[in-house]
Amino acid sequence: MVKAYLTIDDSPSADFMGKVEFLAAKKIPAIFFCRGDLLEKRSDEAIKAIQMGFVAGSHSYLHKRHSTLSITEASAAIRKNDELLDNIYAKAGVQRKWKLFRFPYLDNGAGSFPCAPENLTAEEKSWLTKIMSDVVGSCVMPTAAQLAQKSALQEVLEELGYQGLPDITSSAYQKGFGKFDINITYCTDDWHLLTRHQATYHQTADDLIAKVKRELLLAETSSPQVILAHDYGEKEPDEAFRLLVSFMQESGVDFLSLP
Ligand SMILES: [Zn+2]
Repeated sequence: MVKAYLTIDDSPSADFMGKVEFLAAKKIPAIFFCRGDLLEKRSDEAIKAIQMGFVAGSHSYLHKRHSTLSITEASAAIRKNDELLDNIYAKAGVQRKWKLFRFPYLDNGAGSFPCAPENLTAEEKSWLTKIMSDVVGSCVMPTAAQLAQKSALQEVLEELGYQGLPDITSSAYQKGFGKFDINITYCTDDWHLLTRHQATYHQTADDLIAKVKRELLLAETSSPQVILAHDYGEKEPDEAFRLLVSFMQESGVDFLSLP
């Protein structure tokens, strides 16, 4: 049986409460990685979701590739969203037990590939290449300066008390990504359904379901999966979100809560 954390980026959108209620009705736990600008707009909804038992993680204050920001700008964006989330948890009257962070575009400072490729096996490198290509469409190996940016930002996350998921044992995940942010092992590719990307990818919800069958349900690993979906507030991907999650649940995916 596939065990998986459901993680949802770019919340809270106009469809956020719709997704929260949909998941609550199906008793599916989820981690919503929230953008600072949207949290400021819909803090009451974030509070409600936290009170309902969902986890609000940080997706930084700025939804930008953190390799393109200076260390000062990136650190400030991480810290600003951390304070917003502290306030929102306090208003919800819920202890913020887990501090979880996801970089926009999975760009941890190293750009579109998360680590130096030299210490990876060929298999680990190709696994990470596939994940990053699914998430951002392409991947380029990082420069030394980008790797230094990654280290600096990991230090900021560590200092603020952010932590990774303890039970993701895939060696490529462990070696490639940072210790103090949350990455993924499976991308739904739901972003292909955004109006602005449709002309490039020509995909439908059925294509995304076929990917689940091929790559998630048949994955040969004992490690829990970390599934990436998005909260866009746009009709097609929002409908696909419900279809995909329902399909996964009906196919026996066991959605995990944080310990
Ligand atoms: Zn994002």
